[in-house]
Amino acid sequence: MKPAAFIRHVPKTLDEAVKILAEVAPQDGRVLAGGQSLVPIMAFRLAKPTHLVDINEVAELDTIAHDGNTLTIGARVRHGAFHKPVVDGPLGALLAHVVRHIAHYPIRMRGTFCGSLAHADPASEWCLVAATLDATMIAASTRGERAIAANAFFSGIMSTALADDELLARVKLPRLATGTRFGFNEFSRRAGDFAMSAALVTYRLDGGRIADAHVGVGGAEPHPRRITEAEAALDGQAPGDVVFRAAADAAAEAVEAMEDHQTTAEYRRDLVRAVVRRALEHANA
Ligand SMILES: Cc1cc2nc3c(=O)[nH]c(=O)nc-3n(C[C@H](O)[C@H](O)[C@H](O)COP(=O)(O)OP(=O)(O)OC[C@H]3O[C@@H](n4cnc5c(N)ncnc54)[C@H](O)[C@@H]3O)c2cc1C
Repeated sequence: MKPAAFIRHVPKTLDEAVKILAEVAPQDGRVLAGGQSLVPIMAFRLAKPTHLVDINEVAELDTIAHDGNTLTIGARVRHGAFHKPVVDGPLGALLAHVVRHIAHYPIRMRGTFCGSLAHADPASEWCLVAATLDATMIAASTRGERAIAANAFFSGIMSTALADDELLARVKLPRLATGTRFGFNEFSRRAGDFAMSAALVTYRLDGGRIADAHVGVGGAEPHPRRITEAEAALDGQAPGDVVFRAAADAAAEAVEAMEDHQTTAEYRRDLVRAVVRRALEHANA
């Protein structure tokens, strides 16, 4: 099928983009970033936006910046930008590892980091990264900018705290301390498919014991989140099989696993146990 008719706007600056969005949002106007989720949905007529605010010519949004504490990713930065580490240390390596699990190469060269977060698919790898690392989203509108913490940003399946007239301009990821270990694991039926469950873990070692554990789970619930029960099972312990299994069990117990045409809730809960354990093993390797 072909999309329903729409008007495409091509702003050159962020200011211009938010002004147009403010005008067209009440008529189901939407941002067009990489188009890798929006265009297929429009082609199936599951969405019929009357206006698209195409941000692909807003050069100021194509920036990756880092200081000692934060990596800032602009709204036009494609998934493919992360194929190689964008920053030294564990955060750059983590992003370069995770990106290869997103879709396929041509989609990664077009789809954007911020578009993934705005789209908020429960199984999105970047949403899992944002939730696990406590990212901060910067939303822009004609009212100015506001910062939204990851744990307040995702609100349900493909649903976020962004208002209709807000553009996700940038995302800030905290830099990971030198020596931080990370592990990622996801399960999908075919390579490139959305994950049925995924886990991302990070932790440091302090005197041989786990410190500052972050355990995120995606694909299992309506949106990814940190699982504090699993983190509590890790912090203060020496890394090893028994501890990893206890944390994986805690994560499996804590999630309210979704049921859909692919899996039962029980199966998905068991997947959570498996992906968390494997992510922890990967982090320890
Ligand atoms: C075959 C296939 C497989 C895929 N597999 C995966 C996968 O395994 N993992 C994964 O995470 N993704 C996957 N995707 C989706 C892909 O990653 C998309 O790129 C991503 O979901 C959306 O980014 P985009 O830039 O393409 O956004 P678009 O498609 O342009 O927009 C998506 C939605 O977000 C809104 N939006 C986009 N940018 C902004 C912004 N800056 N501010 C406010 N709203 C905004 C749009 O209005 C729209 O509602 C797959 C896609 C395809 C076609």
